[in-house]
Amino acid sequence: MENSETAAETSAQPSTDHSTALLQQLGQLLGEGGVRTQPDAVMPDVILRPRTTAEVSAVLRLCSAAGQALVPLGGRTGLANGHFQTQGEFGLSLERMNAIEEIDTENRTMTVQAGCILQVAVEAAEEHDLLLPMDFGARGSATVGSVVATNAGGNRVIRYGMAREVVLGLEVVLADGTVVTSLNKMLKNNTGYDIKQWFIGAEGTLGVVTRVVLRLRPSPRSQCTALLAVDSFGALTSLLRMLDARTAGTLSGFEVMWPEFYSYVTREGSLHRPPLPHGSAFYVLVETLGSEPESDAERFETVLGEAMEEGLVSDAVLARSQSERNALWEIRDDVLEFFKLGPIIPFDISVTLDRMEQFVDDIRVGMDTLKDGVCVVFGHLGDSNLHLILGSKKPEEFDYQALCTLLYETVERHHGSVSAEHGIGLSKREQLGRSRSAPELQLMRQLKTMLDPKNILNPNKIFAADTLTAG
Ligand code: ZN
Repeated sequence: MENSETAAETSAQPSTDHSTALLQQLGQLLGEGGVRTQPDAVMPDVILRPRTTAEVSAVLRLCSAAGQALVPLGGRTGLANGHFQTQGEFGLSLERMNAIEEIDTENRTMTVQAGCILQVAVEAAEEHDLLLPMDFGARGSATVGSVVATNAGGNRVIRYGMAREVVLGLEVVLADGTVVTSLNKMLKNNTGYDIKQWFIGAEGTLGVVTRVVLRLRPSPRSQCTALLAVDSFGALTSLLRMLDARTAGTLSGFEVMWPEFYSYVTREGSLHRPPLPHGSAFYVLVETLGSEPESDAERFETVLGEAMEEGLVSDAVLARSQSERNALWEIRDDVLEFFKLGPIIPFDISVTLDRMEQFVDDIRVGMDTLKDGVCVVFGHLGDSNLHLILGSKKPEEFDYQALCTLLYETVERHHGSVSAEHGIGLSKREQLGRSRSAPELQLMRQLKTMLDPKNILNPNKIFAADTLTAG
């Protein structure tokens, strides 16, 4: 998908002498513990650890002048190689900028520094009886900055949106060191272009986010969870519409497992007992978060009863306690089990609901030519997001390129998105043109070259250096 008409430009790599002088300047600037060299084999040789926005700005000014490339280090849990370094790039870690600067209960906002660990921010909100609706498996290691840079999703997007919907304002340092402070707290603010959105989901390629204003919500008082068996894809989408319409805006999860997923994770000898028998076409974990424990539970059961009467649901089990709820979620979250099957590739794509059944059928047909193929599907159906695990039980039959081609060609044919929530990074770069038009890509490249003309910020992520034109 490379654009051959654009002029070649490579990201600048300084010579060793140059680096030594730059490192001395950076060491003086950042002081004790501010520059770490060769910490371990998987990290970059040099990691810069500024403590303030002013220091981030000074680091970028120096690196920009020297043409020194930087790679932001967040929680390093990204799934698209967005944090992967090539030799010579310095790592930029905001781990020393981890303060929660303010929790504003009046306006229900939280202002945090980008290096704050997500779980710390979530727990700080809880202490004020408020919800920070950004939550997913990597909460203990991901930083707020990396959540913003990747526009992370998670398991409650259907209710609260992705990071993009939770961020009200931010502060960002541009490649040349300019600090843009846009710490808006207001829900409505139509004053020109919405600058923060350029940086959310940009994977650190347009600027370094240093501080973030997050929108907090009231903590939910009720949580209703059930696992349902559904016999057809048509029933599944009808059920989603019914639950969305009839649970008073409280629907927070609609997590679908195709039968291969459910039967494998709950197989004999696995960690999980199957709460419903094997053999149904789909299993869906549904959840609501509300404010009225008694009436919410009553309404949830009533709606599920009606769904059964209408034939949308063939079997159901309701969680009656927190441990039963956890047991249901553990089945859905036990994705690592599939790595035991053989070499596999986890994919993260979006396709609209009206095309989803045909999309999965097309992938299955494509996989049929593979003996002992692995094809496991699950996803956040309410967000049009599917995860597919494709591979082979026989390592000698595993063909990485063939599986990627099958998957991404099918996504393109169904007008889907090659990345739903994991970003582009390096691994999906060549696929971007399947989901974005030439004018869209051109506009994105122009934005990148305007904000980072020397291509020092996370170079080669999203766009290869040689596909960018200056200005
Ligand atoms: Zn997901």
